[in-house]
Amino acid sequence: MSTTSLPAATILGYPRIGANRELKRALEQYWAGKTTREDLVQAAAQVRAANRQRLNELGLTEAYAQPADHTLYDQVLSVIAHLGAVPARFRDLLDENGGLDLDGYFTLARGEGDRPALEMTKWFDSNYHYLVPEIGPDTPIDYVEYALADQFREALEQGVEARPVLVGPVTFLLLAKATDDAPEGFHPLDRLNDVLHAYGHWLMDLQNVGAKWVQLDEPALVSDSWDVPRERILKAVKDAYTWLGASVDRPQILVAGTYGNLGDALPVLGETDVEGVALDLVAGQVPAAEDLAALAGKSVVAGVVSGRNIWRTNMDEALATLRDLQAKLPQGTPVTVATSTSLQHVPHDKERETSLPQDLRSWLAFADQKVQEVQVLARGLAQGDEAIAAELAEDRAARESRQNHPGTRVAAVREAVAAVTEADRNRSAYEVRLAAQESLGLPLLPTTTIGSFPQTADIRKARAAYRKGELSEEQYAQAMRDEIAHVVKLQEELGLDVLVHGEAERNDMVQYFAELLEGFAATEHGWVQSYGSRCTRPSILWGDVTRPAPMTVEWSAYAQSLTEKPMKGMLTGPVTIMAWSFVRDDVPRKQVADQLGLVLRDEIADLEQAGIRVVQVDEPAIRELLPLQSKDRAEYLDWSVGSFRLATGQAQDGTQVHTHLCYSEFNVVVDAIDHLDADVTSIEASRSKMDILPAVAEHGFSRQLGPGIWDIHSPRVPSEEEQTALLQAAVDALPAKQVWVNPDCGLKTRGYAEVEPTLRNLVAAARNVRERL
Ligand code: GLN
Ligand code: ZN
Repeated sequence: MSTTSLPAATILGYPRIGANRELKRALEQYWAGKTTREDLVQAAAQVRAANRQRLNELGLTEAYAQPADHTLYDQVLSVIAHLGAVPARFRDLLDENGGLDLDGYFTLARGEGDRPALEMTKWFDSNYHYLVPEIGPDTPIDYVEYALADQFREALEQGVEARPVLVGPVTFLLLAKATDDAPEGFHPLDRLNDVLHAYGHWLMDLQNVGAKWVQLDEPALVSDSWDVPRERILKAVKDAYTWLGASVDRPQILVAGTYGNLGDALPVLGETDVEGVALDLVAGQVPAAEDLAALAGKSVVAGVVSGRNIWRTNMDEALATLRDLQAKLPQGTPVTVATSTSLQHVPHDKERETSLPQDLRSWLAFADQKVQEVQVLARGLAQGDEAIAAELAEDRAARESRQNHPGTRVAAVREAVAAVTEADRNRSAYEVRLAAQESLGLPLLPTTTIGSFPQTADIRKARAAYRKGELSEEQYAQAMRDEIAHVVKLQEELGLDVLVHGEAERNDMVQYFAELLEGFAATEHGWVQSYGSRCTRPSILWGDVTRPAPMTVEWSAYAQSLTEKPMKGMLTGPVTIMAWSFVRDDVPRKQVADQLGLVLRDEIADLEQAGIRVVQVDEPAIRELLPLQSKDRAEYLDWSVGSFRLATGQAQDGTQVHTHLCYSEFNVVVDAIDHLDADVTSIEASRSKMDILPAVAEHGFSRQLGPGIWDIHSPRVPSEEEQTALLQAAVDALPAKQVWVNPDCGLKTRGYAEVEPTLRNLVAAARNVRERL
């Protein structure tokens, strides 16, 4: 093994979708059949080349400072494909070598015909989604192919010695779920040796193309929420890295423990022959000297620049952390300054946000600024504060301007939050509400949707024209009213029981509110990848939050005026607004959540005033922010659930409060769902085949639940039979009077070609099951 030390500064990953979302467009055009495979491959190569070029310009030119972390869809799916580890329903897609071609790869991600896609779920506590591997005793797992060697070579041709990045073997298997036919007691970790065999080959391939470092991401080690005992995980870490460490033909291995503390995995890694360990010192802390002693002889990568938020790094604090780490590490341990995680969670470049106020912009650091920050900090660490005096002064000035800005502390808001009492978070007893809500006149197994209807090209066009000034406010409003009328009429025709207005007027369920509230700012180019080709543009929540005027009342009241059926008012909850925005880091999250709770509370009162009797407060992200360590959960659930209850706490007994949650694996939060005290909760359940139901039934969930029976993430049209079967499963697990019938999530990404027939099947499924009761 040839050795090269790690650079003084690095990043653990970089946004992959392209500065102008080039990869998104290339993917979507390819899927639409408008371009060829070669076009797509070439577009992806161009994105990679442009990223390397940009990182060069930003000074990240030391060998192995740049990550080679590209993936066409998802980093976990890429490992699945490299292993040929596809579930039985996709087995025919494998070629004679056991590999997948490009189309096969996308089929796993997107489903096809009546083959549902792989399940998709949130990557740790982030808003990025990965595809869940399905691994059983017989799943093929082999050394099939390894595109990262090509990526390394490609970078080399551009003069960049890049550090290939791959999800590590233990994390890969912990993220996997056992196949349905796996015997009792089987766990994907049972396949560790097979997986290691392939990783060993990949390391060899990398060695052959001349790579001297590889980064294996093991974020799973920072979480304790796995269904296997910690000892088993630590043994897997030990086995994996002892085995990989022992192979002769390999690059040096950097194991990255991102998104939290490695904890007792640190000494275990210390005992193995890996050459480097990356610590997340933003989500985690500097370990104790006794624990760091285990890293003697290794390189340490110190993640002090957040890969998760968009705020400029407090340089003084980061330097103090770095020095603290250095003092506690065995003498002479080389320290590389780095981001805490991949920068895939943040947009490219704040300098492009020319319409943001100058002072706000000075408080920010996007990916490119963070690339500079790690280098400045590395210089400061090596040469002392004087060497970076100008940068430190600029940083302190920016922080001061932020502290003194009137919008970051609005007295009236702080007083209102301080005056909140427990009573404000409580409604009447559920039974009392249930009785009051009987006047809604709903049938058994009521049908509804989650809120949005397709965001058609026409809607987007109208919005763009309005933004450009080509449509007047009134013309735009008329276009939206027409759309609402269309959606209401369709729902009446389909026979749905509780209607929605379709959310045509919302560009996004969080941004829409962010634009109407004070305390937020929107970016123009601040896109981040959510999954595959899907990107979101989180707003920046920088100040205290106020509501200058009602936000949804006009639309909901108009929609209600068109129908006798109950119309659901539709709001996004406090936790989700936070989770899908870039949230200020200068006040506790509980404070922010309650500020949002209060403005939503006022909105609900206004909706009631306008005659709305059903209100849905979406909290799809409540699961997402759940801390990775169980010891931190109680406190989180207390403030997050508390802010939802503050928002809904004043609703009248007769107002039916719904909430909607998605992204499965809810078993851990069933308790919290109960505490939200919504009258009706709709959840994503179809992709995981309703496996939430046992947990709900066991818990004795007393209120109403709508487990989704249609996976809206895929363009399939689930049949009447399929939806009937899922609904029947729900009715078998829960009393029928508690069950609602709805899709997994909103329909905005779907087209009417799928929505109409599928909703027809959904209504028919409800009828079928009602008849059998
Ligand atoms: N009401 C939202 C919609 O239907 C909910 C979306 C979500 O849960 N992500 O689009
Ligand atoms: Zn949803």
